[in-house]
Amino acid sequence: MAGSTVEKTAQYVLNTYARAPFVLERGQGATLTDADGKTYLDFAAGISVNALGHADAELIAAVSEQMALLGHVCNLYHSAPHADLAEMLCESSFADKVYFCNSGTEAVEAAIKFARKHARETFGPGKTDLVAFGGSFHGRTAGALALTAREKYQAPFRPLMPGVTFAPFNDSAAAEKLIGPGTCAVFVEPVQGEGGIHAATPEFLATLRQACDRHGALLVFDEIQCGVGRTGRLWAYEHFEVQPDMMTLAKALGGGLPIGATLLTDHVAGSLAPGDHGSTFAGGPVVCRAAQVVLRRVNDPAFLARVLALGARLVERLRDLRSPHVREVRGLGLMIGVELDIEVAPLIKAGYAHGVIMINAGPKVLRLLPPLIIEEAHIDQFAEVLGTILHEVAR
Ligand SMILES: *Cc1c(COP(=O)(O)O)cnc(C)c1O
Repeated sequence: MAGSTVEKTAQYVLNTYARAPFVLERGQGATLTDADGKTYLDFAAGISVNALGHADAELIAAVSEQMALLGHVCNLYHSAPHADLAEMLCESSFADKVYFCNSGTEAVEAAIKFARKHARETFGPGKTDLVAFGGSFHGRTAGALALTAREKYQAPFRPLMPGVTFAPFNDSAAAEKLIGPGTCAVFVEPVQGEGGIHAATPEFLATLRQACDRHGALLVFDEIQCGVGRTGRLWAYEHFEVQPDMMTLAKALGGGLPIGATLLTDHVAGSLAPGDHGSTFAGGPVVCRAAQVVLRRVNDPAFLARVLALGARLVERLRDLRSPHVREVRGLGLMIGVELDIEVAPLIKAGYAHGVIMINAGPKVLRLLPPLIIEEAHIDQFAEVLGTILHEVAR
């Protein structure tokens, strides 16, 4: 059975992913089960997506109810779930307005267009430059790819959208030099995900805020991976006391269903008008009901405090392993990177055999993103297994 799915995928699905060699069939909470009945502890959560774990009863009920009531309307019509979710996002953040889309990269594309339009309306043509940072990941579509500082991702697709320059992450002086009168927006992840789990320093984000204000540029926080409770605050920027003009969301927001959002202030929103941007599927009733469940559950002080406590426990257990190969354990909340002095690919593979699912962030960093509903016992179990794997693989 598993064999046929793997073979069929190889035969019919475009080969743009190196998939793990098993077929996932079911999920419950923080546990996944494959087609052979083997279970795995999920420390990837579908890349920071399944915040409420798998098969959450409330999520299933909301989505099923909404699908039976009204599944799709498109954006030519009003629907209550759409408006209610927008209200929840604005009331819980810096933002005054929301634009919905279907993925992270689309949220970034929207932010690029909004920044360009805002600069043109406010300052006239010519203020179109974008600044991003080393180690960034903002997505794979044309505009977002141009903001993604990864040679391997960019090289085959040049020429990219022009006007993007990169400064080293957390280098305030370099950023100040790049941000100037021609800059329309600065894109930054408050905690870089793909780039290796690196948190910005408060001083760096404050410098970006000041430089943007000085030059009439917009500060855009990409919280696609670090937002929605992942770091133990609803929004990662709450750790830093710096607010953006726009923020991009996706991943965990839909509880497993595809939704993206670009949040903005009224100041920016005033430059946008009907026809400037759009999407057929975006912000449909079903995904918006799902996102409401996620937000309501995550935006609860007890839930967020628990994420912080679980994250601290995981970091402690990992440090307790005292593996000579672990260089650093870092992160915020349940967004944790374990930097090693060896390649992590064999560890991830060994993890499959031991029933744990992990992902990487670069060649030598294990990226741990368990569902936010994970239990203490899972964390202890995971750390024990990782200890065994490190011992086995890294002798
Ligand atoms: C995953 C990710 C994206 C892209 O999101 P997709 O939904 O895969 O398009 C953009 N920015 C960050 C920080 C991400 O982690």
